Amino acid sequence: MTNKILILPGDGIGHEVMKEVNKVISWFNESKSLNAEIEFDNVGGTSYDLNGSAISEEAMKLAKDSDAVLFGAVGGPKWDNVEYENRPEAGLLRLRKDLDLFANLRPAICFPALVDASALKREIIEGLDIVIVRELTGGIYFGEPRGIEDLGSGNRRGINTQVYETWEIRRIAEVAFELAKKRNNKVTSSEKRNVMESGLLWNEEVTKIHKEKYSDVDLDHMLADNCGMQLVRWPKQFDVIVTDNLFGDMLSDVAAMLTGSLGMLPSASLGKSNNGIFRNALYEPVHGSAPDIEGQGIANPLASILSFAMALRYSFSKEEDADILEKAISNVLDAGLRTKDIATKGSKVISTVEMGDAVISSLNDLS
Ligand code: NAD
Repeated sequence: MTNKILILPGDGIGHEVMKEVNKVISWFNESKSLNAEIEFDNVGGTSYDLNGSAISEEAMKLAKDSDAVLFGAVGGPKWDNVEYENRPEAGLLRLRKDLDLFANLRPAICFPALVDASALKREIIEGLDIVIVRELTGGIYFGEPRGIEDLGSGNRRGINTQVYETWEIRRIAEVAFELAKKRNNKVTSSEKRNVMESGLLWNEEVTKIHKEKYSDVDLDHMLADNCGMQLVRWPKQFDVIVTDNLFGDMLSDVAAMLTGSLGMLPSASLGKSNNGIFRNALYEPVHGSAPDIEGQGIANPLASILSFAMALRYSFSKEEDADILEKAISNVLDAGLRTKDIATKGSKVISTVEMGDAVISSLNDLS
């Protein structure tokens, strides 16, 4: 079976890191019969310059026909004054909306070699492996009514509406429970039921679906403010955290920083699954286009390569290949090879391209 991949490098360092991802995909094609067919297109400011919009209709069609979209990063000062509907991020938002990618997965894994890069103490993050599942297409970022009203006499009112329906809560909870079954079998659901009706509904619906279909998975509930505190106090108590769009936005950034560097953080945005396989999913590093280091050849490609490992796991059901890729990266780090952003005393600082080559060489050693 052919696995269709669309690569959208985007802007800035997106181009540099996605070249390394392409190398890794080719390795899996040659050495592990991945049978991936790769297409390339543009997104973000690069697409705006070429087509006048942040993503073209052709690119959208390619994305819809793909099993996995690998996205680099978008944005940069060059497009700061572009009209709002065509700003670089609009390409990403359109992809999420049109592909109905409602579940955002952000793993926070601490590689042994990078323990000292975290701001937290070694014993708190050593061995950390958690995932935040954030609802991505509902809640307060999309709820109506919204806007800014002029009340006269210089007084204005800003309005956003937090709103969730049963089906939205159930489908994101299912993703979290299914994921937990493949991991350490524990889900923590987080909301603010003490002050928000939408949080109460969230809590009740997650509890209901747990009873109906997932009673073999451990479930607990935690208020979102406490969850933020517990993430920095003792993050290893968690396995999978499921939460809404707003709290997920914040909690996933807190979790991200547990592991030290933006250049190491992958993410996946998933839609409906077919027997646990997510086709039409989008994978991207958490970082942006990093205009401050663009073109210098020093960007860390590992977040993007780790995002491809997530594609192997979730879109192509290639668990073993994903494990090999993650192990290869871990071995590179153990050998003391680092891009500048994750360099520590005594490590060897290498370029973006050299890091891609080091991963390939580590993959060769493992197979
Ligand atoms: P950023 O993530 O691009 O950079 C923050 C800092 O981290 C910078 O100092 C950068 O050099 C460093 N950094 C980021 N990725 C790195 C990597 N792979 N290797 C080494 N260092 C890395 O965030 P920013 O500076 O706030 O935003 C820059 C642009 O990116 C803006 O236009 C913003 O809107 C956009 N952005 C896009 C996305 C996305 O495409 N999903 C996400 C965040 C920001």
